[in-house]
Amino acid sequence: MSEKELTNTIAERLGTAHEKISSAVQQANRPTDSVKLMAVSKTKPVEYIVAAYQQGQRIFGENYAQELAEKAESLNEYSDIEWHFIGPIQSNKTAIIAKAADWVDSVDREKIAKRLQNHALELNKTLNILLQVNISNSSAKSGVLLQDVDALAKQVDSYSQLNLRGLMAIPDQYDDNKQLIEEFEQMQACFLRLQQQYSSVDTLSLGMSGDMQPAIQAGSTMVRLGTAIFGQR
Ligand SMILES: *Cc1c(COP(=O)(O)O)cnc(C)c1O
Repeated sequence: MSEKELTNTIAERLGTAHEKISSAVQQANRPTDSVKLMAVSKTKPVEYIVAAYQQGQRIFGENYAQELAEKAESLNEYSDIEWHFIGPIQSNKTAIIAKAADWVDSVDREKIAKRLQNHALELNKTLNILLQVNISNSSAKSGVLLQDVDALAKQVDSYSQLNLRGLMAIPDQYDDNKQLIEEFEQMQACFLRLQQQYSSVDTLSLGMSGDMQPAIQAGSTMVRLGTAIFGQR
């Protein structure tokens, strides 16, 4: 693709995504602009990120620590990009993540929170934190169990360099929507409860291209789109 084609393609896809978000927001009777779009740029070259940036996109999600670090470094002149780390976190990668990310959306255990706090202290920065919840209770997935969210939230909130912003989840894929909606509603209830306890909590990251509508119905404030913006990986 030429640079112009890339710009046009990404502009068009972003436009379509914003329309879909708006219509789901309207359907859910929620305020305009209450749902943000995260563009998941994993595996895509920095030219794609720049093309989306030129259309006003500022929130980008990356899954791999090293890849995030390289992209954030090479795009550091774009200082208002908000970099989210959304992948599983190995403890030997926390230093790289803490340095490159503005948000870490996949914090799921105390050891990781503690390491991020220590790195952030050294770097003299604040990290925005989402707790990733294993809402489908699947053994293979990362994420804290719903019953353990309170303890982890309390710990994160106690750290000087970590700003507890909310929750993220990636539910299993289901054939019918009933189970999915139930899990989204459990996330919403947990989010509302956290919000009452912590004034910093304002973000519920739920919903991808296939389940944006029920996610927004359940109060998602941030949907994550990869393929729909940047094409197949
Ligand atoms: C890759 C990824 C996405 C985007 O997935 P697509 O199917 O490309 O839209 C969203 N959230 C997370 C956590 C991801 O890893």
